[in-house]
Amino acid sequence: MSARVTVLSLLVEELNSGRVKVVDLTQPLGADTPVIGLPPIFAPSPPFSMETISSYDQNGPAWYWNTIHLGEHTGTHFDAPVHWITGKDFANNTTDTIPVRQFVGAACVIDVSKEVALYEDFLLTREVVQAWEGEHGKIPRGAWLLLRTDWSKRTGNEAFLNVKADGPHSPGFHKDCVKFLAQERDVLGVGVETVGTDAGQAGTFDPPFPCHTFMHGAGKFGLASLKNLDQLPPTGAIVIAAPLKIVNGSGSPLRVVALTPAE
Ligand code: MN
Repeated sequence: MSARVTVLSLLVEELNSGRVKVVDLTQPLGADTPVIGLPPIFAPSPPFSMETISSYDQNGPAWYWNTIHLGEHTGTHFDAPVHWITGKDFANNTTDTIPVRQFVGAACVIDVSKEVALYEDFLLTREVVQAWEGEHGKIPRGAWLLLRTDWSKRTGNEAFLNVKADGPHSPGFHKDCVKFLAQERDVLGVGVETVGTDAGQAGTFDPPFPCHTFMHGAGKFGLASLKNLDQLPPTGAIVIAAPLKIVNGSGSPLRVVALTPAE
């Protein structure tokens, strides 16, 4: 019996030949990983920490392993709909109940890195998305909308979190754009290079944190602290983003990879 040619056998051939490459969209997860800061009236999320259980020593002579401690929303991570009050009543809204089909999706990458270099509080608008669609085609249902800002190229937590006297400053989404993406384009969710899917100043917006409010209020997902979005084409890549199966989890750190055509 000869092996049947399928789209998956072709994919393996393409991966082996290098015509399709795997791009890591994930930040390293360690004690230096930046964590979102909230006003002191709210409970903070702890930084990542790790302690050794054993390291080929008297606690385990032939094995090395660690205990880790971290908030669910640390480093490159997934936001489930239950993370926000607007998404709390959906079925299958937690990390353990989201259908696994939704962990694989096409990626539409909108590059606003030039705009963000000029204005760190840049907000993506519906008009910019529609101009992008004029060039690259309509965003298909169930695709990730990835916002390339090059924010992940900032070095050091101070520059990455960019907190000033009036709070953090970083790019994000205008509320009308989020509604458009969720309701009129039915995206899987949005992915960003910043510490959270909302803009740094979004706590002052009306409503506060509109990306979380409307995305999760439509049962959509978020991906934060992504990197290497500059290695993806505007369309044609596939993102694999499967959170840990935490029971009743609101999100989780994860390894996000993209399959993309090699140039
Ligand atoms: Mn989050």
